[in-house]
Amino acid sequence: MIVDVPIHCISCGTMLVEQIPEDEDRLRGVCPQCGKIHYRNPKIVVGTLIERDDQILLCRRAIEPALGLWTPPAGFLEMNESLAEGAARETKEEALADVEIVRPFARIDLTRIGQVHEMFLARLNSTEVGAGVESLEVRWFCWSEIPWSELAFPVIDWILRLRRADLESKQEQFHCGCLRWRDVGSPMCLDNYDLGELQSLLLKG
Ligand SMILES: [Zn+2]
Repeated sequence: MIVDVPIHCISCGTMLVEQIPEDEDRLRGVCPQCGKIHYRNPKIVVGTLIERDDQILLCRRAIEPALGLWTPPAGFLEMNESLAEGAARETKEEALADVEIVRPFARIDLTRIGQVHEMFLARLNSTEVGAGVESLEVRWFCWSEIPWSELAFPVIDWILRLRRADLESKQEQFHCGCLRWRDVGSPMCLDNYDLGELQSLLLKG
């Protein structure tokens, strides 16, 4: 499995067994000692698309997975913060950029790895950006020079394509959809995914 799986009971430390609890319909990590059921649920990833003229800000990752590849600033939502607050915090951490969140842009479900990605449009409060500890470098890219073959994750590719298409058609939209792996080929390869259930909601100006 890809998703973090607890091996020991968080209450008593006993090794868990996988079984379907009574009245449920799927395998869970169950403690044979105290009976605690360990649920696993998707995590939320928040990030920002920061635009300047015809450019967008991308970070080159200094950490695995996808070390050395490009992504907008994004990371896991923390406890006690809103989606927008988390997106702004991740942007500060990875691109040393103070941003104002403009609006939600896309929400993509990644069912294979149990994540929901929420990406916002944001604008810089100051002109300064730089590489945070999780970034090797931070760069502005014109839409015509996006390093498509060096993007960190398939979901990033889809999100950037959606934004580029909106800019070209001069439409402001909010997109939600589900990125599904086809169950064949490398799960890191974009070609092995379909973006389904896509709904693009046109926003009034
Ligand atoms: Zn236990």
